Amino acid sequence: MSRKVDSVKDINDSKETWRLAVRIMDVWSVVNNKGIEHLEMIVMDSLGDQIQVLIRHDHLLKWKEVIKENMTCIINNGSVYNNDFQWKILQGKCKTDRLEDIIGAVSEINHIQSNTPGKKVVVSVVLKDLKGNCINCNLWEIYGLKFLAYYNDPKNNGVIVILLTRAMVKDGQVTNAWSGSKLLINEDIPEIQDFMSKLPTNEQKEKPTQSAKSLSNRSGGSQYSPVERFVHNAKCMSLSQFCKIIHETLCVTVATTLKFVVSKYGWFYYGCTRCSSKAPNPQKAYECSCGQKVEQLIPRYKIEIYVNNGESKYRFVFWDSECAAILGMTAEFMHNSMVENGEDDPMVYPNELEMLLNKKMAFRVKVQPTFSQASVEHCVLCVLSTTKFI
Ligand SMILES: [Zn+2]
Repeated sequence: MSRKVDSVKDINDSKETWRLAVRIMDVWSVVNNKGIEHLEMIVMDSLGDQIQVLIRHDHLLKWKEVIKENMTCIINNGSVYNNDFQWKILQGKCKTDRLEDIIGAVSEINHIQSNTPGKKVVVSVVLKDLKGNCINCNLWEIYGLKFLAYYNDPKNNGVIVILLTRAMVKDGQVTNAWSGSKLLINEDIPEIQDFMSKLPTNEQKEKPTQSAKSLSNRSGGSQYSPVERFVHNAKCMSLSQFCKIIHETLCVTVATTLKFVVSKYGWFYYGCTRCSSKAPNPQKAYECSCGQKVEQLIPRYKIEIYVNNGESKYRFVFWDSECAAILGMTAEFMHNSMVENGEDDPMVYPNELEMLLNKKMAFRVKVQPTFSQASVEHCVLCVLSTTKFI
C-alpha cells in the first residue's frame, strides 16, 4: 500500500491526515517568555508553494537534531491552523508589529551600547534602501556582536549590506526578533549581491562610519551624552604622564594596542553568569554577591595588553564586555570552539584575539599605580573617516 502526497496549495483545516513531500527552506527555534522552546520552519513543495510548520515543544527533543535546512522530508499528519499573525493584520486588529525580511546598506552606525552590568549589547545602525529611504535598525546581543565583528575587521573595507530575516518592524524601527532572526552580512547570496550591484559605484566602496553627530546627540536616557559620559570626572592625559600618577585616577587617553601581556591566568577566568565577578573556585557552584545562584560558571575575558603612544607604553587590563564588543563573540563561545578543537588550556591564546591588537582607541581607564596598570572602563575605536565634518 502506498499513499499519495498532498500539495501545499490544497491544505485546509478540514482534516489532519495530510502528507507532504517538502524541502525545508528555513528553520529556527523560538523560545517564549517562560523559556519553553519550539521549532518553526518554512517548507516548500515541488510546485513551489510554501507553508509555515511549527513543531511543538513536546516533540522538540525528537526532531531538533534531525531537522536541517535544505533537507527534504515527508511530513505526515499535522493540525492545520490559520496563520494567527496574518489573520490579525487582515482583521485590522491593533497588532502593528510585523515580521519582515529587511535588506539595506548600512549608511551609519548610530550608537553602540556595550554590555555593562544591567545593560545588553545593542548596536543601532541606519539602513538605507535603493531609493534612499532610511530606517533605524537595532541589533541586540549576538546580532550586534556579529555586526561589530564584521565592522571592526580591517579586511572589510567597502559598503556593508545586511539582510535581517524575520525582523520586527515597530514604531518605524527595525529590531531583530529574540530568536528566529538571521543576520546575513555581505554574503554571497542573490538578494545581497543583487542589492549591492544596484548601488552607485561610489557607495559600493564606502564603509559606514560612526556618526559624530549622533555621539553628541544621543543621551541614552541619562543627563549626559556618550561623549560627556566618556570623559566625565576623568583627566585627559597622555600615556607618558601615567607613570607620574601616585593615586588611583580616572583618565582618558588615546593609544594603540601593541601586544598581549601573557598573565599567569591566561586569557579568561570563570565567573558569574549574571555579573562579571570572578568565581571563588572555578570548579564549584556558588552564590555570587550579586545574588545569582551560579550552577554553571562561564568563561569571561580578562586580557592584559601593552598599549603605546609614541615613546611610552603601559599595561592595560581589558575586561569581558569591552573584549566581547570588539571581538564580536563571547568568551564562552570562543572557549567552546577552542575546546572543540581539543584545546582547553587558558594559556593558549586563540588566534581570534589578535583582533584586539594594532587598534588605535580612545580609552577611559582607571590608572592603578600600585599595580602599574590601567583598568579599561570603556574604549572606542578611532575610525579613520573621510567624512568632512562641518
Ligand atoms: Zn554575579
